[in-house]
Amino acid sequence: MKNDLSQTPFPKTLSPELLTKLQNQLHHDFPQKRLIFDERPLIYFDNGATTLKPLSMINRITKYYENEVANVHRGVHRLSGLGTTEYENTRTMVQEFLNAKKPEEIIFTKGTTDSINLVASCLGRGFFQKGDKILLSEMEHHANLIPWQELKSIVGIELIFIPVLPNGELDISVFHQLLEKHSFKFMALTHISNTLGTINPIETMIQDFRSSQFQGRVLIDGAQSVLHEIIDVQKLQCDFFVFSAHKMFGPNGVGILYAKEELLNAMPPYQTGGAMIRDVDFQSSTYLEAPFRFEAGTGAIAEVIAFQESIKYLMNLRKDYGVSFLNAYKNFLVTELEDAISLSDSKAQILGKGLTHRSPVISFVIPPYHPQDIGTILDQYGVAIRTGHHCTQPLIRKFQLTSTCRASLTYYNTREEIHAFHTALTKTIHLLEKTL
Ligand code: PMP
Repeated sequence: MKNDLSQTPFPKTLSPELLTKLQNQLHHDFPQKRLIFDERPLIYFDNGATTLKPLSMINRITKYYENEVANVHRGVHRLSGLGTTEYENTRTMVQEFLNAKKPEEIIFTKGTTDSINLVASCLGRGFFQKGDKILLSEMEHHANLIPWQELKSIVGIELIFIPVLPNGELDISVFHQLLEKHSFKFMALTHISNTLGTINPIETMIQDFRSSQFQGRVLIDGAQSVLHEIIDVQKLQCDFFVFSAHKMFGPNGVGILYAKEELLNAMPPYQTGGAMIRDVDFQSSTYLEAPFRFEAGTGAIAEVIAFQESIKYLMNLRKDYGVSFLNAYKNFLVTELEDAISLSDSKAQILGKGLTHRSPVISFVIPPYHPQDIGTILDQYGVAIRTGHHCTQPLIRKFQLTSTCRASLTYYNTREEIHAFHTALTKTIHLLEKTL
């Protein structure tokens, strides 16, 4: 066990020149990195909730509202045409980003929650029958739990859970036993846990599920993974992949639902109204094919268009610095963050400490102090973390807790920030000790 944070050496794979270049670039491109509160620079460790935004994306939203305002897919005038082209360009860019086969397999939604509700609601009308079994894990976000609970009460499906081990990993041997014991119609699984940071081995899990479950379908919740992992939906062989733009440098109000084209066209619409119809009569209507069948009404046009800038930003980071460099940096941040938490107080407990595959997301508690008190005092030092159950209440309960502190990092976070967080956390605990 280290007793000093500065003992963590930079891995050899991290060239100091490249690291300085990366940090200077990100500091320049993300205006929020320069926010000062009470004369202290903001240390933003709440990236799991939402990421900061690059100026290029913010400027693109302004450009649309200043120069390009129009509705899309309706209208013959040039602004409407321009908006439609740009809107559809985002769809193609997302298709390439996920390596989907066709742009028609990309549906714009409001976010991950909306995407999963769409799938559950549409499949609830015909695909699922009473008694069908759905496999979930104990680490699902409420967004990938409650829509299935609703189906349980409406259709009578059964929910079965892959357990989480004390080390924060899914119990893969129980997963295999469940596959042998049951016949599942569906598996809905998070790629990365927003609470524990666990990176699930989804590729092999999907393969195992596919080889044992005749015609079972798979949905992957990629809300926490799109920023840090390279996603290839064809290689993964998932049927549905969902995520939110705001968790990868993008705007609010835009979500993505990827689904195989043949599935989408076999599904009933989610919402009905304008922009999704083929023909309407007083008594009945026919609908367009995907993607428009699932995009009733006016979407978040400016945000969808501006999301291109976020994707470009992330892709350029991967191209300019290399994925292995970014991964090495991410892993370095995780180790340093674990040390910072452990060294701040001997009572600090990290959920799933020592996970072998962890995203830079760490939940911790320092008993007897309430996470909310820790978070509130840290905020006075300019450090933004998240506290609570992180929309994974059953998982937090499994760890016999009601709330944790969560620090979640990404590429623009630095070693210096982790050291400042460590100092702030140590001072916070000293302050709280005095209240006992
Ligand atoms: N799933 C996971 C794993 C998440 O982390 C989140 C957001 N915390 C969601 C789903 C829901 O995302 P949104 O609120 O953008 O719909």
